[in-house]
Amino acid sequence: MARIGVMGGTFDPVHHGHLVAASEVASRFELDEVVFVPTGEPWQKPERAVTPAEHRYLMTVIATASNPRFTVSRVDIDRAGPTYTIDTLRDLRTQRDPGDDFYFITGADALAQILSWKDADELFALAHFVGVTRPGHHLSGDGLPVGRVSLLEVPALAISSTDCRARVRGGDPVWYLVPDGVVQYIAKHALYAGSDMLEA
Ligand code: ATP
Ligand code: MG
Repeated sequence: MARIGVMGGTFDPVHHGHLVAASEVASRFELDEVVFVPTGEPWQKPERAVTPAEHRYLMTVIATASNPRFTVSRVDIDRAGPTYTIDTLRDLRTQRDPGDDFYFITGADALAQILSWKDADELFALAHFVGVTRPGHHLSGDGLPVGRVSLLEVPALAISSTDCRARVRGGDPVWYLVPDGVVQYIAKHALYAGSDMLEA
């Protein structure tokens, strides 16, 4: 029986805030593995053009490659339609041993939204949720099922993918905000060069 962390995200691009959160939860919860799961079409972000999944997947592979406990799953990008965490957890569970324990890792901002997610009740049956601190957001488990959610303070990194994209667009560096290989991947493919807002 394994203890498996699941780190879902758009990862557009993946940054050190994601990696520190995953590493810290892995350590505190003695996880055997953390699976990073880049979203397919994120239903919460319909107003902007999200970078094609294949780029977000490859950046996540590059960022996690050196950590023996980190892996990346294609379940969400290979499933058609919008990504719902309930489907992510159901699919991952079918691929793993039935006795495995799942720990879904989420930042304070995402945790606050969780009750609005599809099939919220069943989510807590499929995984234990670990909410982590994030600068600029209040971490609270209010309204969430007692015993199925843990809150954890992690080293504060005031980094967001939105800010990374804006920096690239404005010609500012993202060195040390994202892994070196991701900086190089962004440059190689000229990602985040233009506006990402969809035309109205
Ligand atoms: P965007 O600005 O595009 O929304 P993001 O930086 O919020 O990007 P996501 O891919 O949306 O990154 O987030 C994936 C998960 O990682 C979410 O649960 C989010 O709360 C968490 N997370 C993101 N950045 C941090 C951070 N700096 N510290 C802690 N958790 C974070
Ligand atoms: Mg976000």
